[in-house]
Amino acid sequence: MVLREERELVVEYGKKLSQEKLSVGTSGNISAYNAEEGLMAITPSGMDYMKLKPEDVVVMDLDSHLVDSNRKPSSEWALHTGFYLKKKDIRAVVHTHPKYSTIFAVLREPIRPVHYAMAGIGTYEVPCAPYYMYGTPELAHTAVETCGEGRAVLLANHGLITCGETLPQAYDLTANVEYTAELAYRSRAIGQPVYLSEEEVKAVYESFQTYGQADSGKKGY
Ligand code: 13P
Ligand code: ZN
Repeated sequence: MVLREERELVVEYGKKLSQEKLSVGTSGNISAYNAEEGLMAITPSGMDYMKLKPEDVVVMDLDSHLVDSNRKPSSEWALHTGFYLKKKDIRAVVHTHPKYSTIFAVLREPIRPVHYAMAGIGTYEVPCAPYYMYGTPELAHTAVETCGEGRAVLLANHGLITCGETLPQAYDLTANVEYTAELAYRSRAIGQPVYLSEEEVKAVYESFQTYGQADSGKKGY
């Protein structure tokens, strides 16, 4: 099977997304990229994550060709390929509609650092890209551009994208951005949160590069 390892990982992390309620129903999509092969494994469109099998995962190249699978790829395949084409060091993209992050996307406000847990995004805050309909080339373009040098971006009135050097890393970033978004929302409901400074966030980012065990490649919580 082409890209067996990546397909199995996509199935495993798709189930996690669903179980941990980071996406509602069949919303969201994830991919893993094998740079040596020049191929990505991406979730099929509109399928229940809990029922996914490795053979349902679609393999595509970065020139929009289907390489292996009898399923239709995620409607956001161009968004995923856009990230791999632009950001040479990433090997995974996770797109979700998690509740608290999406509240900020509805307000079209960035998620600001009320907690250091999201410092792994590599920018001070999670920026919000303008609205375009899901699955459009315009959305793919604006998401990558707004993300810039960072690893997370909100999509106005839609959801969140994170990326990473591995799928576990991109997934953990999604969970930590969502955690921070919930703290930001809840703290604003009863007062005025104090945001960390640029310097404080940078110091955590540096520390996260060697966080955990030497072979874990975690770079954050
Ligand atoms: P797919 O099921 O086609 O991946 O679409 C879900 C989604 O979140 C679109 O933005
Ligand atoms: Zn979506």
